[in-house]
Amino acid sequence: MAEEPKETGQTKPGFQNPVAGFGVTFKAMFKKRLTEQYPEQQKTTAPRFHGRHQLNRHPDGLEKCVGCELCAWACPADAIYVEGADNTDEERYSPGERYGRVYQINYARCILCGLCIEACPTRALTMTNEFELADSSRANLIYTKEQLLAGLEEGMVDSPHSIYPGTDEQDYYRGLVTEAAPGTTRQVAVSKGEVPQEGASTFGEDEPASGKVTGR
Ligand code: SF4
Ligand code: SF4
Repeated sequence: MAEEPKETGQTKPGFQNPVAGFGVTFKAMFKKRLTEQYPEQQKTTAPRFHGRHQLNRHPDGLEKCVGCELCAWACPADAIYVEGADNTDEERYSPGERYGRVYQINYARCILCGLCIEACPTRALTMTNEFELADSSRANLIYTKEQLLAGLEEGMVDSPHSIYPGTDEQDYYRGLVTEAAPGTTRQVAVSKGEVPQEGASTFGEDEPASGKVTGR
């Protein structure tokens, strides 16, 4: 004959169980409330929070992305699409040979792990603190290069434009170029369908450097 299970002493008599349940509710009534008044009041994120990506620029406004696709290969969610292209003297987006012509991140796939920014050799790709990425449309969750590209700061001219006269790509990474050369103007983005206007400036192609390259 099988033995009766022993009393452990942990079970309560049946009538106490509903009361114990109310006890949990009662204790919670006196705890500090954790309700956050989002979106009216937003909490500050940690400084190294992994939010929306950003494609960074050099101090003169040229783009840091060289279209190498390392970020796309590093992504475990296959969320990044990159197409590189060659710069020309007439249409230059980055100081070196190549630039990222097409750049997209699909936030319906991205898990904000940050592996892509670790893989980027030029620090072109970093992550911001922006986290409000929700959308009801899948198409809207695919961010394009135009959306991801950093805004212009003081001393920058929007790409495409010529490299700082008298410098090369290495000088940009050494931090020797700290602003756009005086008189630099944006070139015509023919690859994006812009039509050259008569008399458009081509400053910087043949002219000697008249501005300063600081830190040399
Ligand atoms: S954060 Fe992670 S998942 Fe998102 S694009 Fe970068 S590597 Fe891919
Ligand atoms: S963001 Fe960085 S890793 Fe990705 S294509 Fe551009 S340079 Fe390469």
